[in-house]
Amino acid sequence: MHDFHYLNHELYCEDVKVSDIVKKTGTPAYIYSYKTIVEHIQKIQKAFASVKPLVCFAMKANSNLAVIKAAVKAGAGLDIVSVGELFRAKQADCDPQKIVFAGVGKTAEEIAEAIHYGILLFNVESGPELESINAVAAKLKKKVNVSLRVNPGVDPHTHHHIATGKAESKFGIDLETAKELFRNRKKLSFLNFCAIHVHIGSQITIGEPFVEAFQKVLAFVSELEKMGARIKYLNLGGGLGVIYDNENPQTADQFAKKILPLFKGKKFQLIFEPGRFIVGNAGILVTEVIYIKKTNVKNFAIIDAAMNDLIRPSLYGAFHGVWPLSEKDKARKLVYDVVGPICESGDVLAKDRHIQELGAGDQVALMTAGAYGFVMSSNYNSRPRICEVMVKGKKFAVIRKRETLQSLIAGESIPSFV
Ligand SMILES: *Cc1c(COP(=O)(O)O)cnc(C)c1O
Repeated sequence: MHDFHYLNHELYCEDVKVSDIVKKTGTPAYIYSYKTIVEHIQKIQKAFASVKPLVCFAMKANSNLAVIKAAVKAGAGLDIVSVGELFRAKQADCDPQKIVFAGVGKTAEEIAEAIHYGILLFNVESGPELESINAVAAKLKKKVNVSLRVNPGVDPHTHHHIATGKAESKFGIDLETAKELFRNRKKLSFLNFCAIHVHIGSQITIGEPFVEAFQKVLAFVSELEKMGARIKYLNLGGGLGVIYDNENPQTADQFAKKILPLFKGKKFQLIFEPGRFIVGNAGILVTEVIYIKKTNVKNFAIIDAAMNDLIRPSLYGAFHGVWPLSEKDKARKLVYDVVGPICESGDVLAKDRHIQELGAGDQVALMTAGAYGFVMSSNYNSRPRICEVMVKGKKFAVIRKRETLQSLIAGESIPSFV
């Protein structure tokens, strides 16, 4: 569910007419619904209320300060993947004991920063990383919680770029190696092996791959316990799918019904790391048609947003719905390719779509753009990154200014030898 809807043929975000927002900010603009973000966190919290999980919003999906603050205020922690995200988490006053740190390539500096801040645990992806964390922890004389990210060898039935739990993926540690690392834990005396982590991929719409993975994890944890492990936390990752097109993803309640029986009578503190599920359909990208170009075979709607603003269609072939800001009465529908101005044939945001007849100056929203949207944007073609706006009820505010031409060259210089 989300909070974008039509009222008298005009698109609204919560109680604000979207066209009123872009009259102030211009286009293109990302617009997020505060209510949708908070409600999605609450959906998971409620569905799993019986086990009081820690929900750590995977902030790589959308790391704007206002977005992560909304998540933190709703009681969520944060799943971070870099010292940059840690910096943002601090700005949002996230309780360090609600922060988990993932990623295959944490540097010693990043590890030290995170230990200083006192995060809950590191999700560890390899033996060398364990040694690095142990060395930094020893230097700082702090005992540190680690969670081995295991790779259960499960196919999540999603796009191959976002499947992470298969045996050939760069993520996680296979179960045999994980056991070996655990067996040698005494050498790593500054580490507390108190958690197991699993994250099998993204945009997973059915429960079965999760059940299969979690069953494998539970069996694995039993083996570790026989070897003397005291596992307190089970971090079950993220990956819950959302509706982009005609998917019918499991709800939080349906997910909980499938998952909770597995953990019945067990005392683990469960951690979830949803990203897309929280912010995916909490955001839209509003853009304006610059030209309509008709060829013998196609109608192109050339818009002012491009693949640098939203790369998911070019990168993953992802689908984003195209909704006009104003629905015209009885307008005929035509088939359009919605494309950006960038000099790449891959700069297509939506292909072969039936949309009401468009003209230059018409505005449309690319839907479900709240996750992996702005955060993956770039300055390609020297396009300033666009603004982000948050709506709450009748109010809205710019939460990131549109970049200027000057900001494009900030930090650049021409040396004397040129
Ligand atoms: C990306 C990622 C997530 C979030 O994934 P979503 O599909 O957005 O829920 C959670 N955990 C880890 C380790 C990740 O890499």
